[in-house]
Amino acid sequence: MAVEKTLSIVKPNSTLDNNIGNIIAIFEKNGLRIAGAKLARLSKEKAEGFYIEHKERPFFGELVNFMTSGPVMLMVLEGENAVAKNRELMGATNPANALEGTIRKLYAKSVGENSVHGSDSAAAAEREIAYFFEKHEVVNRF
Ligand code: GDP
Repeated sequence: MAVEKTLSIVKPNSTLDNNIGNIIAIFEKNGLRIAGAKLARLSKEKAEGFYIEHKERPFFGELVNFMTSGPVMLMVLEGENAVAKNRELMGATNPANALEGTIRKLYAKSVGENSVHGSDSAAAAEREIAYFFEKHEVVNRF
C-alpha cells in the first residue's frame, strides 16, 4: 500500500464540544500521523468554494452556515492508504448509519453536524490540501 496524504477537517460541532483531541487520538491510534494542522474560522467565501460541488444541493446554505459557525481544525493526515483509512474511521455521512466506534457514531449530532470532513479520493485530497495549506505548512512524516 502507498503512503498517502488526505485532508481532514474537524467541524464546528466537534471543536465546540472539545472533541478535537479525542478525534486526533483516533487517527493516531490507527496509523495516521498529522503532517499539517491549523485552527481556523472559515469565511463564507472560503466555505462556499470548498463545497462548490454541492452548490445546487438543497442543504448548501445550511452547510455553509454550519461550517462558518465556529472554529474548524484543518489537518493533513499522512499514512498507508490514508484516504480510505480516514473515510473508514469517520463512518457514514449520516451518523444514524455509522458503525460503532467511528468518529461520526461517537461525536456527530446529525447528517449536517457530522463532526468531520475527509477527502474522498487521492485527487480530491491533493486539491483540498492545496486549498487550505501552503506547501511549507505540510511536513513529510514518512
Ligand atoms: P461526506 O463526504 O461523508 O462528508 O458527505 P457528502 O460529500 O455527501 O456531503 C458533504 C457534507 O454535506 C456532509 O458531510 C454533511 O455535513 C453535509 N450534508 C450532506 N447531506 C446533508 C443533508 O441532507 N443535510 C444537511 N444539512 N447537510 C448535509
